Amino acid sequence: MAISTVPVATLGVPRIGRRRELKFALENYWAGKDTAESLLETAKRLRAENWRQQRDKGVTRIPSNDFSLYDHVLDTAVMIGAIPQRYGWTGGEVPLDTYFAMARGSQGDAGCGHPGHVHSTSALEMTKWFDTNYHYMVPELAPEQQFVLATAKPVDHFLEAKELGIHTRPVILGPVTFLRLAKSRGEEFDLLSLLPKLLPVYSELLGRLYKAGADWVQIDEPCLVLDLDDGERAALETAYRHFSEEVPALGIMLATYFGALGDNLDLALSLPVSGLHIDLVRAPEQLEQVARLAPKNLVLSLGLIDGRNVWRADLTAALDYLKPLVCGWPLDRIEIAPSCSLLHVPVDLELETALDAELKSWLAFATQKLDELVLLGRALSGGRGEVAEALQASADAIASRRKSLRVHDPLVEGRLAAVDDAMARRKSAFAERRRKQGEKLNLPSFPTTTIGSFPQTAEVRKARSAHAKGELSFADYEAFLRKQTEAAIRWQEEIGLDVLVHGEFERNDMVQYFGEHLSGFAFTQAGWVQSYGSRYVRPPIIFGDVSRPNPMTVRWWQYAQSLTDRPVKGMLTGPVTILNWSFVRNDIPRSETCRQIALAIRDEVVDLEKAGAVMIQIDEAALREGLPLRKADWKAYLDWAVGGFRLASSGVGDSTQIHTHMCYSEFNDIIDAIAAMDADVISIETSRSRMELLDAFSNYKYPNEIGPGVYDIHSPRVPHTGEMTDLIKLARKRLADSQIWINPDCGLKTRKWEEVRPALVNMVAAARELRALA
Ligand code: GLN
Ligand code: ZN
Repeated sequence: MAISTVPVATLGVPRIGRRRELKFALENYWAGKDTAESLLETAKRLRAENWRQQRDKGVTRIPSNDFSLYDHVLDTAVMIGAIPQRYGWTGGEVPLDTYFAMARGSQGDAGCGHPGHVHSTSALEMTKWFDTNYHYMVPELAPEQQFVLATAKPVDHFLEAKELGIHTRPVILGPVTFLRLAKSRGEEFDLLSLLPKLLPVYSELLGRLYKAGADWVQIDEPCLVLDLDDGERAALETAYRHFSEEVPALGIMLATYFGALGDNLDLALSLPVSGLHIDLVRAPEQLEQVARLAPKNLVLSLGLIDGRNVWRADLTAALDYLKPLVCGWPLDRIEIAPSCSLLHVPVDLELETALDAELKSWLAFATQKLDELVLLGRALSGGRGEVAEALQASADAIASRRKSLRVHDPLVEGRLAAVDDAMARRKSAFAERRRKQGEKLNLPSFPTTTIGSFPQTAEVRKARSAHAKGELSFADYEAFLRKQTEAAIRWQEEIGLDVLVHGEFERNDMVQYFGEHLSGFAFTQAGWVQSYGSRYVRPPIIFGDVSRPNPMTVRWWQYAQSLTDRPVKGMLTGPVTILNWSFVRNDIPRSETCRQIALAIRDEVVDLEKAGAVMIQIDEAALREGLPLRKADWKAYLDWAVGGFRLASSGVGDSTQIHTHMCYSEFNDIIDAIAAMDADVISIETSRSRMELLDAFSNYKYPNEIGPGVYDIHSPRVPHTGEMTDLIKLARKRLADSQIWINPDCGLKTRKWEEVRPALVNMVAAARELRALA
């Protein structure tokens, strides 16, 4: 093991364990099958493994406190004693179960399975960490908030590593980003007003870390890549001036990631810190400027290896890119790092036994990225000769990927080039389509429907896994799924729903199912990435041009429709959602991959119509999630995202009704884009906001039809008919009756039939009541 002279950092590594050890330890503990000691023992072992692995590979700035049992934002809140009263904490040690109550509520969670939607009455809220698919717990702060250093996990973990003979650089979430991510409890107030109370707790922590032997800390302030107001900018100045006065001897590596510093660059460079980490994957152009403007005694941490994606790096290109910098910049003032923590990539490519060698040679997961980082460090310190072989291997892999026919499909590229505006436009305007659809469909007013999935019962999951293991034959599995579908159709007819769904029993997941049927996608066996807490996802990897060799859903739709005279909706996932929940190519723009997926979905839409479908739903649950971090970039994203949806949905005739579904209800700031999607019917989540969020549509005079959710599917509670009629009354204040559909908030796959049956019976009753009155 050679130690390079150019330091190599990781900023943070996956916490979940190579074999998801943390998940199983947590879930066993929560289920009462294992003790707290055994959970903590597993956690400790995982930390030690991570530290040793990094040391053995030659990483020299090894992070500590990047580990978390659940979430690092929650850890920070707990550390500073920001524990809302309802958790009953009165000071002193914070019990493990208090921590988990904040994470999960004390009755456990009840979600629709969709990240961001897991809810329990008493847990903290959860939301997306910047533009990743990681979700953090939102700290709740009150105006009279007090802070104390309630736990000193960063110190404990620093000492734990020290005991193993490993000197680490603790990672701490910065105070300004913390406050920006938090929310007010009760009345709204300026959270930054809490900064003066918060800083002494932070400096106490930093002081203790210094005393314990830390010479550097990494303080993460990813808010520096966002649009900041004057108050936030001033807060950053105050905070870092405070630290430089209180703990002057401690080096601070200020970490920014997920984008360019942009207009915050001067501010970042003016802060009294010893080091600055910048993301050079998302924002390679900022290197030149930073190198020109930064004081020469600043240590620059260069985020060169992509912490957000799974591709092997082009190391030669990285070295060439750095050349102008390293000519003028002292080598001892440089660190090599990933763009951000490696938390967002899977752990180890070596666990993949089913991916072929060629595809594997193009990929790098966290473990492989450690090697890449160290290689770059060595190449910079010792010249390239010493590492020539490894650089050559990387160059070969890059070249093979660039030329591969698995990546470049001339048919797809040709088709894409032939796309014109007309293909992304329905034949007639909505008014005309509506007339034709009305004649053809002949639906009652306030038509009732559901969002697509029915309960994925233990039986369904068991059959799927038996089939995957080869214990249940294809024919038997299909027969099983048909039975489920048939029962669902019969039951929907029986309770009197107007527009039926087949139930999605054949689907494990709304993206994976499609990825498995499309060319250009690969799936991993062990490529897990933390989504939140103990929930991990295995995003598909889009490696090549996307096309649809065969119909994906037509057969299931046909079968379902053959059982009934009522219309059954075709059910698809939209291109933007498939894109946003996958690892995507880095050799072409996201927008282009989106268009390729859109063409593939368009093929399916057209085939469904040909098979006789009169309604086709294209879900775009993740359209809003894809919004860029900076407002200035929103328009470009929304343009191509909406364009993708339109391309996917516009191949059909006027009388075919296109539905879409979105898993949220904040539409105010994107209502133009939603209108531009021009779906004939959109269903959204509105039950928890009591229809208030429909205002975006009514203020805009949105003309198309809308299904505002009247049943909160995140809760096991069965709503009464009266509650639903009340909600619909609120909707009628904002929309014309002729616009309104009646449906639940989202799919029902995580609910139990015992809940779904009475709830939907009540929902149909609510619609009938309204029809009688209207
Ligand atoms: N059709 C999907 C379902 O019902 C939609 C889910 C979603 O948008 N999250 O499960
Ligand atoms: Zn939804």
